[in-house]
Amino acid sequence: MFPGEFEYHRATSTDEAVRLLADNDGAKLLAGGHSLLPMMKLRLAVPTVLVDIGSIEELAFVRQDNGDLVIGSMTTHADIAASETVAAGHGALAEAAASIGDVQVRNLGTIGGSLAHADPAADYAAAALALDAQIEVLGPDGERSIAAADFFAGLLTTSLAPAELITGVRFPGAGGATSVYEKFAQPASGFAIVGVAAEIKADGGSCAAARIAATGISDRPVRLSQVEAALVGAALDDDGIAAAAEHADAGLTDVRSDMYAAQDYRRHLLGVLVRRAVTRAGS
Ligand SMILES: Cc1cc2nc3c(=O)[nH]c(=O)nc-3n(C[C@H](O)[C@H](O)[C@H](O)COP(=O)(O)OP(=O)(O)OC[C@H]3O[C@@H](n4cnc5c(N)ncnc54)[C@H](O)[C@@H]3O)c2cc1C
Repeated sequence: MFPGEFEYHRATSTDEAVRLLADNDGAKLLAGGHSLLPMMKLRLAVPTVLVDIGSIEELAFVRQDNGDLVIGSMTTHADIAASETVAAGHGALAEAAASIGDVQVRNLGTIGGSLAHADPAADYAAAALALDAQIEVLGPDGERSIAAADFFAGLLTTSLAPAELITGVRFPGAGGATSVYEKFAQPASGFAIVGVAAEIKADGGSCAAARIAATGISDRPVRLSQVEAALVGAALDDDGIAAAAEHADAGLTDVRSDMYAAQDYRRHLLGVLVRRAVTRAGS
């Protein structure tokens, strides 16, 4: 349970962090360390250089920007869970953060680290997809923004280039919609066996707009577009929601099966959590 040898650098700015990544093959960023260090101890990750970004203070913030919510990549799960600004318009994100792991994990783990790690059961992944997040990135060629829908590329894999650093995550304003996060957690780690984020805009008892995404289901978060299509225009009552939730696993061909839950059970959970999430977001 000892990691391989590595050089350690503490970056004092984002530019320095990117330069260290670009100049050192096999370098990795260290944020909260709650995914990377276990991987290193198991020798599933063997970085030759660690670039610690924990003291770059400008990466830890929650702010409003032209109606968007922007969160710095080094913002901890605990700070996101406690933020009134986040809770005010982006309940799914606040609830996802509050549901992660335990107090120690929430106090050190960061949103940037969680997104970059791309665990198939990570909670933010569903919220980022449902809330149409943009991942803001800095690399040797400058800044770019990646839509959450294009960011997750597979198991522990993203579309980040090797020397790119996530600086923040931008969420569009809610525009009158309400969002929530529901999960069925693995009791030891808290990771989602299945988690569902739903953003619903209600209009006089029926659904005007819906965005729904799930984690824990596949090798990456999935958008439940058939549920969304069935909801729009439907009554947000028990029957309307139950009918839409029937489509929860429609078109999903690669539902996971592991020691925690078989594929059929995950499909069942998905329907249950979609129903719960839409009921809460639509009420
Ligand atoms: C006991 C336990 C329980 C947990 N339970 C849950 C849970 O219920 N739900 C859940 O979603 N997660 C859970 N986690 C994971 C936790 O949320 C981690 O904090 C998170 O996945 C990684 O964030 P970090 O800041 O610790 O990143 P690190 O571990 O430091 O880094 C993870 C990866 O991201 C890269 N990285 C870090 N920051 C950046 C950046 N700014 N830009 C680009 N790349 C970056 C690193 O190089 C590394 O590859 C749990 C972890 C533990 C140990």
